[in-house]
Amino acid sequence: MKVFKKTLELKNELDILSKQGKKIGFVPTMGALHHGHIELVVRSVKDNDITVASIFVNPTQFNNPEDLKKYPRMPEKDIAMLENANCDYVFLPDYDEVYPKIDTTNYDFGMLEKVMEGKFRPGHFKGVGMVVKRLFEIVEPDNAYFGLKDYQQFLVIKSLVNQFDIPVNIVGCETIREHDGLAMSSRNLRLSDEQRKEAPEIYKSLSFIKKHIEDKSVLEWKQWFKDKINALSQLKVEYIEISDAITLEEVSLFDDSKSLVICVAVFAGEIRLIDNVLIND
Ligand code: AMP
Repeated sequence: MKVFKKTLELKNELDILSKQGKKIGFVPTMGALHHGHIELVVRSVKDNDITVASIFVNPTQFNNPEDLKKYPRMPEKDIAMLENANCDYVFLPDYDEVYPKIDTTNYDFGMLEKVMEGKFRPGHFKGVGMVVKRLFEIVEPDNAYFGLKDYQQFLVIKSLVNQFDIPVNIVGCETIREHDGLAMSSRNLRLSDEQRKEAPEIYKSLSFIKKHIEDKSVLEWKQWFKDKINALSQLKVEYIEISDAITLEEVSLFDDSKSLVICVAVFAGEIRLIDNVLIND
């Protein structure tokens, strides 16, 4: 496995491989890797001739400077995990390598960036769009792998490649969870023992709603989730939305023929956890 810090060096190497007809798979990450990230790499290794993973904590997608500062960074451990997963190239750039000049592109994801994460983290998806577009320009992958844990992000990326006609196939990969159901996340490393003990209630409650969706109305389920989670000493719901799984428009009634997604953000102290379940997918 080779590690590149310089954009041009990586680009030159990948250009040669592309010209030889090699299929390139790409897994963008912010590091502090866990099994969820590694599953994306495993999938890419299976589908492609060459797999590139990037590790870049992208400042333009953080609306909270404290969150950016405290974001876990452990590149050496990450590199070892990627090597173990048979990744071929790691891109570990500095800020200036990713953003050599100011990006004046107008990123507009409409409804997709106005709700949920977009509403509570203003500017977040413009930052995601900016970094992913730039990384796609550098790597020029055939396939790129994203986790459905960040479901809204997955839809934003699909919109990005459509809008800018980027010739890459976006592959969504299922959420990888701890044994107790908690969605794996780099932020889980920051949970206290007590917070970690309560955090699995998020997915447990989401799974319960999914299983019994017919039993209550949309409004009742939202309230049920808030009451259940907020009753715990360590957790506080920021939002729960039950939405059309394609447009992210809120639904008011359940309809068997429509795919829905239930998305939540929950604070454990200052650590923000997100999760979702798909319904009728
Ligand atoms: P991040 O490093 O958090 O920006 O995540 C990099 C990629 O890994 C994104 O496509 C995430 O959706 C994906 N990812 C993060 N956590 C998980 C998980 N638990 N299961 C599947 N994919 C994940």
